[in-house]
Amino acid sequence: MNELKKDSLRIDELRKLLEYHSKRYYELDAPEIEDYEYDMLLRELVNLEEKHPGLITPDSPTHRVGGKADGQFEPVEHKVPMESLQDAFNIDEVLAFDKRVKAVAENVRYIVEPKIDGLSVSLEYENGLLVRGSTRGDGKTGEDVTANLRTIKAIPLKIDTDLPLLEVRGEVYMPREVFTALTKEQELNSEKPFKNPRNAAAGSLRQKNPKITAKRKLDIFIFNIQQIEGKALTSHKESLDFIKELKFNTVPLYTECSSIEAAIEQINKIGEMRGALPFDIDGAVIKVDSFAQREALGSTSKFPKWALAFKYPPEEKETTLLDIEVAVGRTGVLTPTAIFEPILLAGTTVSRATLHNQDFINEKGISIGDKIIVRKAGDIIPEVLSVSWHNQDKEIYRLPDICPSCSGKVTREAGEAAVRCCNPDCPNQLLRNLIHFCSRDAMDIEGLGTAVLEIFVEKGIVKTAADIFTLPKNEIAQIDRMGEKSAENLIKAAEKAKSNDLSKLIFALGIRHIGQKAAKLLSDKFGSMKNIISATTEEIAEIDGYGLIMAQSVTEFFSHPESIELIEKLESLGVNMKGEETVKENRFDGKVFVLTGTLTAFKRSEASKIIESLGGKTSSSVSKKTDYVLAGEDAGSKLQKANELGVNVISESEFAEMIK
Ligand code: NAD
Repeated sequence: MNELKKDSLRIDELRKLLEYHSKRYYELDAPEIEDYEYDMLLRELVNLEEKHPGLITPDSPTHRVGGKADGQFEPVEHKVPMESLQDAFNIDEVLAFDKRVKAVAENVRYIVEPKIDGLSVSLEYENGLLVRGSTRGDGKTGEDVTANLRTIKAIPLKIDTDLPLLEVRGEVYMPREVFTALTKEQELNSEKPFKNPRNAAAGSLRQKNPKITAKRKLDIFIFNIQQIEGKALTSHKESLDFIKELKFNTVPLYTECSSIEAAIEQINKIGEMRGALPFDIDGAVIKVDSFAQREALGSTSKFPKWALAFKYPPEEKETTLLDIEVAVGRTGVLTPTAIFEPILLAGTTVSRATLHNQDFINEKGISIGDKIIVRKAGDIIPEVLSVSWHNQDKEIYRLPDICPSCSGKVTREAGEAAVRCCNPDCPNQLLRNLIHFCSRDAMDIEGLGTAVLEIFVEKGIVKTAADIFTLPKNEIAQIDRMGEKSAENLIKAAEKAKSNDLSKLIFALGIRHIGQKAAKLLSDKFGSMKNIISATTEEIAEIDGYGLIMAQSVTEFFSHPESIELIEKLESLGVNMKGEETVKENRFDGKVFVLTGTLTAFKRSEASKIIESLGGKTSSSVSKKTDYVLAGEDAGSKLQKANELGVNVISESEFAEMIK
């Protein structure tokens, strides 16, 4: 194959790959690869297109900005395009940028700012009032997310100015602390957690329900004036100062640099601070300050020629693996953690990283004493990337065959990566279970945290969750630093927890795959512990939001005599076993719907959810048992069949009436 042919095939391949990942990133907020990997693929395509300009197409990812608006929101035409940025991955590329700038302009001053890793939005103010907020979309057309942006506290709804028009651009982001709390909550609720703060911000802003956005505690930094009427500005610095005066959260750390060397110094400074900032950044941006010079430099179809994004590579360092610690979790899973010589990565000192499971260890070929490469990308959690030096005399590390806590047998179930301790009385498992049982989202027993429970388990005061409701006051009062008052408080807190809602108890039991939300659904559907225990897997699997694995996990849990014994004991001690009365609207009780054609007012998944919430069901094929066919535009064979069988066909507007 000649070179041109080979390159042309690779170009096609790269375009397809980049399009796939762009869609996952921009439209679905669910990327599969690291940004750095994406950037490297894009860079390879840029290089190949530069080599073969004849193969450039206007729709190539090298010429397009961002992703498409997906129709969920009203489109917004951007009067001033929301451009992307050209990027640089090393200092030589920064110097080359400076050279290109200096070929056009003299006495250049740069402004260097951190590049906030969030999503770009525009805010339009008319006579000081926020009238519209939108996403970047493809740079020309974005999505109207005004209602959602209004919920962000840092966005002023009114600014103190009589300017007839002001449009600013900024980056909406999720502070790291908020992200950590959110993903913890998502895990507890058995929801798929967001991969990083950027995706969490995008997923939270592009929500149909602004109440969800409001809960996500997003923030914003404004970094540009897109349009202004009634005031003349001549430089970027001047405009940032003005934005600040108007009390916008202006991009922090913006610095004026009179030479490219000073700009590089500032880039390095920001890079060093990176890990310690309370928000994620993925680079630093260098911008020509003077607007007149910017105009002379101009733009390509994708980015301005007067700005450059310097992207920090994910930081990687070599260190020595000192030990592998194995912890036993609540469900008995043995989790290995690498303990390594502490290293400074992306601004923080790290000395531990999860090794996930035996498969991960085998794949990387890890043993204690090896030199390992640890990486910390924009993400907060360090990861072991590879082994750089392996002690050939040592075998690959194997997780112990016995539980490190109770010396009980461990097993690995077919098809599972995890190794588990099978001893139900394993003290470590018991402790983890009790910590979970008493935690805030579960039974919420104040005072019974890890430290106290550790003592209670060690002293044999608590052997099962039921023992929490019969705590021996005198014995506890004698424990070091406890005293009578603390003992009384613990007993009171346990007493109070007895009247918790059933869903809290279900969650507290720590049934595999059953998070807070699933526990609530179970309690709502069956109303009492008795009904849940006697429900079949099939009945449980019917709950909207449940799958077979979750349902099986519930019946499996209650098939163990120990579980039933625990429930009976808890009940005899007065722990509430009844759910809140839930009033259900069953207007579609037992009715079967088939959805066909293109729905415009609802997404299909939305319509299905509504039907199910009103007691109905959806099916994928039309039969005599179908009660309604909801037909959108261009409905085909299903509509025809419905007409043949005399099934009720309804339009979207009729459906909207029915659910009013
Ligand atoms: P970009 O993110 O590299 O740069 C442009 C963006 O930077 C602007 O939209 C702007 O909102 C933002 N920005 C933040 N702070 C800024 C500041 N101070 N001044 C100016 N702009 C600032 O380019 P892009 O075209 O938006 O997207 C490419 C990015 O998306 C890359 O980081 C890429 O890795 C990532 N991506 C990742 C995947 C994946 O699968 N992981 C897929 C597609 C894109």
